[in-house]
Amino acid sequence: MTKVSIGLRGWRFDEEEVFNEEGDFRALSDMSPDTRDRISRLMDVVNDPCDACWLIHGEEEKERCRSAAVVYGEPLRETVLCNRHEVDFLYWFREEDGRELVGDRLFSNAFHQWFADGGRAPEGYGGIEHVDTDPDSVPDPEPDEELQSLEEELASLSEEEREALDLDFDDLEV
Ligand SMILES: [Zn+2]
Repeated sequence: MTKVSIGLRGWRFDEEEVFNEEGDFRALSDMSPDTRDRISRLMDVVNDPCDACWLIHGEEEKERCRSAAVVYGEPLRETVLCNRHEVDFLYWFREEDGRELVGDRLFSNAFHQWFADGGRAPEGYGGIEHVDTDPDSVPDPEPDEELQSLEEELASLSEEEREALDLDFDDLEV
């Protein structure tokens, strides 16, 4: 089973569940509720500014924020980050016990708090390497070769298809 990222690095989907043999998106109603939640949340955040940039610049200077490149955490508790701030997130995750909060509803809040309090990766902290914050997913050695075409697929979803998602996030615990 091949796992793929769509639009942002981070979250991964079973390719067969999300796309048909022609490589088109399957109907959202054919996906499992978990996948549907994650796909629709992804559509909401794919064009968001980086959370860390936003903490720095605020809503007034939103245009100075870089766009998100990666998403970590669970839907509605996720953190989206630009490539530069991903380093800070990874440091928090590995060295500041963020790892222990995987799956916890405070996961992204805890990172935001740490970052807002001045938490940063030390100069030269490296090792950009995907960390898995999805407790159910399996580490995947496959490169995301098909990301480009998947992004195009995502962009080509019509309004109706998006509305067909019709997910009521109010039902979920935020
Ligand atoms: Zn950023």
